[in-house]
Amino acid sequence: MVFYILEFMRKHNFNAGPAILPASALQAASNAVLELDGIGMSILEVSHRSKEFEAILDEAKKLLREILSIPNDYHILFLQGGASTQFAMVPYNLLEDDKKAAYLETGHWAKKANEEAMMFGNVEIVASSADKNFTYVPKNYTIPKDAVYFHITSNNTIYGTQMHNFPQSPVPLAADMSSDFLSRRIDVPKFSLIYAGAQKNFGPAGVTLVIIKDSMLGKVKRKIPTMLNYKTHTENNSMYNTPPCFAIFAALHTLKWIKSTGGVSVIEKSNDEKAKRLYDEIDRNPLFKGTCVKEDRSKMNVTFVMQKPELEPEFLKTSEKAGMVGLKGHRSVGGFRASIYNALPIESVDALVGLMREFAVKHA
Ligand code: PMP
Repeated sequence: MVFYILEFMRKHNFNAGPAILPASALQAASNAVLELDGIGMSILEVSHRSKEFEAILDEAKKLLREILSIPNDYHILFLQGGASTQFAMVPYNLLEDDKKAAYLETGHWAKKANEEAMMFGNVEIVASSADKNFTYVPKNYTIPKDAVYFHITSNNTIYGTQMHNFPQSPVPLAADMSSDFLSRRIDVPKFSLIYAGAQKNFGPAGVTLVIIKDSMLGKVKRKIPTMLNYKTHTENNSMYNTPPCFAIFAALHTLKWIKSTGGVSVIEKSNDEKAKRLYDEIDRNPLFKGTCVKEDRSKMNVTFVMQKPELEPEFLKTSEKAGMVGLKGHRSVGGFRASIYNALPIESVDALVGLMREFAVKHA
């Protein structure tokens, strides 16, 4: 019954994050807040050392390993502090004063990551798209062979670009995949470290996922505070301290939903179709224009503006009246941003496209 109400009453949720989650995960989370599997306690009340919670953590890890074919020499960690803490944790664990790390600067978050790394050693920005307000992904750069790692941001949440091909890196590749994790197939062995804040395609805010290759541990001589040392978490199965139990539970049910749809390859096809429908309309409709170069457009965060900016407030208002939320563009880009993450149904994209068409007729 609650499930029915949820589906029926839900907004067209284009939020950039926290963002739309599958109704089945919300239903499971909602049930478990009242009582977890008939044990007379809420998921919010069970001990993280209980067999019930250990089973949840183990299943989440197992499912993620299966869904992304993560090899056994990679650890899966459920941490806290968001992707922003990873900006520091990566160089803290991998970079030393006399060493160099390479960074690709593709947007706001990529910049934050490299600025943080500068506190720990030398940083070489191999290429940047700052010259054109991050509306493209740089290509044809050289990754220095003497870098201890090369850091990329797979999807640029704010400006709306995405790396559709990953570089062949001569040094370990580290990726912030916060905003496109689980949206497409990835070849995990290409990477030595992947991290993602959960609150887009993986679950609610509060848990941060790290996938780290065993050979990346113990790389620096410096002392690392316990909680910021990857080894602490690999050696304690993400349970050195109290993990974000509820967020992990909701993430488990998001993973179950991904599996039930047929897995990441099926999700990827659906994401391709959603993005195509929206970009086709942006390109066809004389009132709108995309903000990024076509070949680098994100399939997660679709950024666009209006040819006549004075019409933007009216379009936003119209969309809100039609039950759409989260379409206002980030202040550094303006216009609109439709985040079309995994759980957003294609019907929501069609509703937006329909609205854009009606608006064009009205303002012809
Ligand atoms: N990286 C990317 C690509 C992001 O989109 C975000 C947040 N939107 C972050 C990092 C920062 O994540 P958090 O808020 O979890 O620290």
